Amino acid sequence: MNHVHNPSSELRRTNRAAVLRILANHGAASRAEICEALNLTPAGLSRIARELIDADLVVEGTVVNTRSGAGRRAGNLTINPNGAFVLGVSITANRRNVALANAAGEVLEQIDISGVDASDPDKTLSAILAAAKSLASPQTDWGSWLAGAGVSVATTGKISPDGDTSIGVLGWRNVPIGRWLGDQLGLPVTVTSRADSLVQAEFAKSAEAGARIFLINVGLGIGCAWLGADGTGQPAPDLGNVAHIPNPVSDAICHCGRRGCYQVTGSGIAVVRSLAALADDATPPLADLSAPLAVAVRAADGGDLAAKSAFHAAGAELARAVDIAHNLLAPDLVYLAGETGRQADFVAGVRDGLTQIGALLPPDAVRISDIRTVEAAASAALHAFVFSRDVDLARLKAA
Ligand SMILES: [Zn+2]
Repeated sequence: MNHVHNPSSELRRTNRAAVLRILANHGAASRAEICEALNLTPAGLSRIARELIDADLVVEGTVVNTRSGAGRRAGNLTINPNGAFVLGVSITANRRNVALANAAGEVLEQIDISGVDASDPDKTLSAILAAAKSLASPQTDWGSWLAGAGVSVATTGKISPDGDTSIGVLGWRNVPIGRWLGDQLGLPVTVTSRADSLVQAEFAKSAEAGARIFLINVGLGIGCAWLGADGTGQPAPDLGNVAHIPNPVSDAICHCGRRGCYQVTGSGIAVVRSLAALADDATPPLADLSAPLAVAVRAADGGDLAAKSAFHAAGAELARAVDIAHNLLAPDLVYLAGETGRQADFVAGVRDGLTQIGALLPPDAVRISDIRTVEAAASAALHAFVFSRDVDLARLKAA
């Protein structure tokens, strides 16, 4: 990597990353639009664009086939889908996947390792490594173009800068996911919570200019992420996390030790508690609740009335938490994600609950995030290692 520390070069790197993020988040943009958005002179942008075009990371005036590729005009700058590649890894309670994605965030190939015993971190990480190596094999065109890997994990706990974290739903305690995979793969690795990676990916995809997005990922528990309209495209982890706000109407005990947290009243935990008629004082380990939640989702989706009602009731409880978050953060859009968050009766419960309590958030501002976790993981890697100040253009160019 090129470690030049003169101020104009530093500024150029910052502006270059900002140009890449605009293109990544909006699909395509004209030179005039970019200059206006970033307060750049045409000559300043021209230098940056030349550098990015020379590195094959950006193309000009070419119609390229990408998911968000509608309406491109000659003169627009766009990200070249084949300009760089990243790996995306998802580690959640119900699925573990490893994927190869291009610079447009499209998954090209994917390996499902869900069959490997997820309660064993060593086995799971070894399976991830084997899948990653096979996707990035030197025989493939993209082997030498890999910019890094993103790992998206179903955690509501802290993630260290090195990528150490615990995953309660799998029973993992303080596993050095990022450091180990980084050492083994010889690539930079970023580890993010599922909520953070999803909110960033939704922002890039929905691209409603300047929208402030609050995302609530509801699996067993609740994870939140906030992405404001500051133009950086960086999520603010944990800001507005409603999981452990107590709901005074409930005595159910939370694993945090308090009673009535939305974590246990408006979540997958609430659904399982209700269907299994657990006592308020019962606190089974999260890992024991994953399988019953998966059964409940299938039952509700299949029309089982008790399951449908349990999801609707949990959603209506979560509506109170959504209302609190809306009052504090004033997001334009609220996304629901996760196996509970996306369940149809749960979503109906959230919308009905908002109406019932007279919330100011319009029901059509509640959206469902349909981005898969592994896509969000790839998007996180792109933002960390390609659309960033530290992108190694010389390496991409040489590849
Ligand atoms: Zn709690």
